[in-house]
Amino acid sequence: MTKSNISRASRSKVGGKSVLEPCTCCGFAPDPRGRPFSVTFEQPDVIDEIHPELLDTWGGDPFLAVKTIGFFIRVILPVKLTNGFAVDFGTWLEVYNEDFRRAWQTWNFPEYKDCEIEGYIGNLIPPFDKFPHALVKATVRDPEQVPYLTSSENEVVTRLLTDTWPHAKVLAPYAELLKSELPTES
Ligand SMILES: [Zn+2]
Repeated sequence: MTKSNISRASRSKVGGKSVLEPCTCCGFAPDPRGRPFSVTFEQPDVIDEIHPELLDTWGGDPFLAVKTIGFFIRVILPVKLTNGFAVDFGTWLEVYNEDFRRAWQTWNFPEYKDCEIEGYIGNLIPPFDKFPHALVKATVRDPEQVPYLTSSENEVVTRLLTDTWPHAKVLAPYAELLKSELPTES
């Protein structure tokens, strides 16, 4: 598990007063531009379950095929958190072969903006329980970014995508990861 694009408030001031104080309960400071935290899972969990000698993969990030297992596309799972926080989990969607091909073919073309894929979330993401084996739909929010998980007919996944979750609890498993990142200016 690694992280990327983690930003913390720094030197962001209005009227001489820092706008975004770190939260008193957890010490996290929201990003000055309101961007979510980012936590990225490098590969689908199933990879760890395969003996390295038997592991036969094609591609990488964002398109990964694992022989005899399936096809995976990099997606973002956006989670809304209390106190104005949010976190984008970089995860994987296990998709059908045809969807994999279709996404691959449009990825770098204007048609990408209409890309819709359905699949199963490929990581266990603490502190959430293992997600139900339910189809989740991913759509394109921004042509420069991988697809975002947007909806599901499953109730548990729908809550994950639409509810606002307690920030301290959700960020706790990643506290070290997020706080070790140097503040970035951009
Ligand atoms: Zn807090």
